[in-house]
Amino acid sequence: MQILLVEDDLPLATGLQSILCKHGYVVNHVENGKDCLHAINTQPPNFVILDLGLPDMDGLTVLKHIRHKIASLPVLLLTARDSISDKVAGLDSGADDYLAKPFEINELLARLRVFERRISKVESTLITVGDVSLDTASYEVRLKGVLQELSRKEFLLLKNLMINTGKVLTRNTLQSQLYSWGEEVASNALEVHIHHLRKKLGSDFIKTIRGVGYKLQKSP
Ligand code: CA
Repeated sequence: MQILLVEDDLPLATGLQSILCKHGYVVNHVENGKDCLHAINTQPPNFVILDLGLPDMDGLTVLKHIRHKIASLPVLLLTARDSISDKVAGLDSGADDYLAKPFEINELLARLRVFERRISKVESTLITVGDVSLDTASYEVRLKGVLQELSRKEFLLLKNLMINTGKVLTRNTLQSQLYSWGEEVASNALEVHIHHLRKKLGSDFIKTIRGVGYKLQKSP
């Protein structure tokens, strides 16, 4: 899942970005409302974490613009203002959820998992395709019940393919879910990860759709 983090508090943003990355999210960070709206227009994310107190625009105004552009995009508001009226205003402006600073990272992670399930329409944290099962909460992947060692990128890639079983995912889509903006990526990086996944999970598990991308076959 690709997250757009809109936060002008740089130490907080950097900390969140690194923790969320470790938990398997791709996070792109912007510091103000203008850059947020530009990102929404050009490279829409799957999820937005939006600070209400931004230097250039009021967070609620940013939220209204986001809603106008992509009505269904989930937005979680972050704010230092822990008052009922702010919470009500945020939710009335179309926010899906709300966290008051300071918050526990585990609470944020739990809420992200709820959204992830909603977006992917996967009801539980356990996704199973054929002999492979993946748990989005414990980050465990098993082949016929046997735990497999996957790198973080391999896990991310596999999760994205499993959530979208039966659909062809293009190289561009897979890459945007794997790397944040500006991250150095070798041109064959995706192929290398696919190669490693096939070695671990069986050569037939991931199908190549020539010239397009990859897909997982639905279990018969
Ligand atoms: Ca702020």
